[in-house]
Amino acid sequence: MTRILAIANQKGGVGKTTTSINLASSLASIGKRVLLVDLDPQGNTTMGSGVDKRLLDRTVYQVLLGEQAAAEVRLPTKPGKYDLIPANQELAGAEVEMVSLDQRESRLKDALLPIQADYDFILIDCPPALNLLTLNGLCVAHAVIIPMQCEYYALEGLSDLVNTIKRVRAGFNSSIRIEGLLRTMFDPRNLLAQQVSDQLKQHFGNKVYRTVIPRNIRLAEAPGFGLPVLYHDRQSRGAQAYLELANEILVTAS
Ligand code: ATP
Ligand code: MG
Repeated sequence: MTRILAIANQKGGVGKTTTSINLASSLASIGKRVLLVDLDPQGNTTMGSGVDKRLLDRTVYQVLLGEQAAAEVRLPTKPGKYDLIPANQELAGAEVEMVSLDQRESRLKDALLPIQADYDFILIDCPPALNLLTLNGLCVAHAVIIPMQCEYYALEGLSDLVNTIKRVRAGFNSSIRIEGLLRTMFDPRNLLAQQVSDQLKQHFGNKVYRTVIPRNIRLAEAPGFGLPVLYHDRQSRGAQAYLELANEILVTAS
């Protein structure tokens, strides 16, 4: 069965896109069939997957508006070995245009239905906002991966996200749950990071992934080459951490 995972946190710069790209390529390298959906007008997932967002005439924008089928818009990425539904700046307009459309929260869900069975995993990179785009991601997802940096305000923002997930469960998608909280850009020498990490484990117990993503320069460099980190520096701690995460997710999914 296909597992659909939204990667969401309304806080900016916490590692959503880095996680989307590198989890997608790690799962694909283990032999899973993966589709990655870029749901952020910034198009960072698209660029980081080696696709030039400025040259696209079809993106997730047309898919959400019902002008293109998802099957027509998806692209194979090289060397990531996953398929991508790309995004660019045009998507910023979708928020306004979708307001007047029917079923505006479930447009992505309806669009993915015909191609869903082609994949073992569909990952959705959400924008840093609790807006209609993120809502579309949450409405189609079976579960949410929440990347977070272990810093002072991290827990505060988390309650807004958890409340949004509860609202989505009540209103649109009764089966959605939190798949896991992922500690990103982690520096074990930082005392505050350790404290926040401990609090996180107290609050969320085994929902906190055992895998921790370290702060690693290779992870930050790779998008500049349009490459997942596996194909930039396979031996790096960042690449190894995302492979470990993929394996942890495969164990919990089976
Ligand atoms: P946004 O909210 O803008 O979409 P995001 O949550 O998707 O941001 P990323 O774009 O993945 O976050 O990461 C923010 C910045 O931090 C990027 O420059 C990225 O390269 C860098 N970064 C992410 N994870 C790591 C890491 N583990 N080690 C070092 N740098 C990282
Ligand atoms: Mg992002």
